Amino acid sequence: MKAAIVRETPDGYVDLVDNWEPKPLAFGEALVDMEYVGLCHTDLHVASGDFGNPNEIGQRNGNFRRVVGHEGVGRVSKLAEGASDYLKIGDRVSVAWFYDACGVCDFCVSGNETFCRKVRNSGYTVDGAMSQQVVVNAQYAVKVPDGLDPVEATSITCAGVTMYKSLKVGETKPGQWVSVHGAGGLGNLAVQYAHNVFGAHVAVIDGNDDKLAAAKANGAEVLINRKKVADVAEEVQKATGGAHTAQVTAVNAAAFNQAVNSLRPMGKLVAVALPQGDMALNIAKTVLDGIEVRGSLVGTRADLKEAFQFGAEGKVKPIVEKVNFNDMNEVIDEMKAGSITGRKVFDFTTL
Ligand SMILES: [Zn+2]
Ligand SMILES: [Zn+2]
Repeated sequence: MKAAIVRETPDGYVDLVDNWEPKPLAFGEALVDMEYVGLCHTDLHVASGDFGNPNEIGQRNGNFRRVVGHEGVGRVSKLAEGASDYLKIGDRVSVAWFYDACGVCDFCVSGNETFCRKVRNSGYTVDGAMSQQVVVNAQYAVKVPDGLDPVEATSITCAGVTMYKSLKVGETKPGQWVSVHGAGGLGNLAVQYAHNVFGAHVAVIDGNDDKLAAAKANGAEVLINRKKVADVAEEVQKATGGAHTAQVTAVNAAAFNQAVNSLRPMGKLVAVALPQGDMALNIAKTVLDGIEVRGSLVGTRADLKEAFQFGAEGKVKPIVEKVNFNDMNEVIDEMKAGSITGRKVFDFTTL
């Protein structure tokens, strides 16, 4: 069957093959016939070997090549022994970056399973979603609710749940101000969840007027083009009285500094994007204003279930476009060039 695998020497692209076979099902596992899989920046990092060579990490054998992808949705077609307690044939489930975890450590039993030291990640330490059939751990494959478009669901599997979770980490409350620094794929969903689910007011900072216009259409009330103002933080302070929570989704260190300075006293900065290097943190502001800084990483199964449900209720609508599996390397080039609005989602139903 068809699959997209990391190149022997990872170079940021994938090899599209016809002869790939999933591993035989083990106890508690299910086979999923994939329908739609989105491409994410994290896939590019994996395919480039930025996190180590994925062909040499995790479970493997012989001339092993890792299947990429972690924004997948498909239907269960086969259940191994032990899997039918959790899934049934025909269930629509997701294949997310958080593949599974040990289930018994302090993090797993306290609702923080994504921080388990034995966590496995789809398309990185286990084979991912970019193949016609995918093996999942039935206890960890989150069901996609009826009423949620499966193409849109692929984006909630990653970007959507990431922002839903980070708004939780920021303890966002109705009527508060959230500043969203970066209005790309993550930022757009941050605006929707903040405004439509958490009932917050939203200020958005980006350097691209089209992305700001999309944020406005999704409910953002304050729009700041960072290239057109002298001091981003001052503008946020003027318009909002200081944000209660700043969500940093932009992949540049300057955004982190602007976000800290955009906060009101006792404000919380939530770091989501992963630029290289360190963030500067003004010690006086942090101490005198009681600033908190937190990191947030994807979401648990419970977070994803909730994030999906808000999508099914129409409160959140990712920007998605279906594309052909055979064009994956061209889409990778477009992603590298930053020319994609929302997500391109590979259609496995027509293969
Ligand atoms: Zn992703
Ligand atoms: Zn664990």
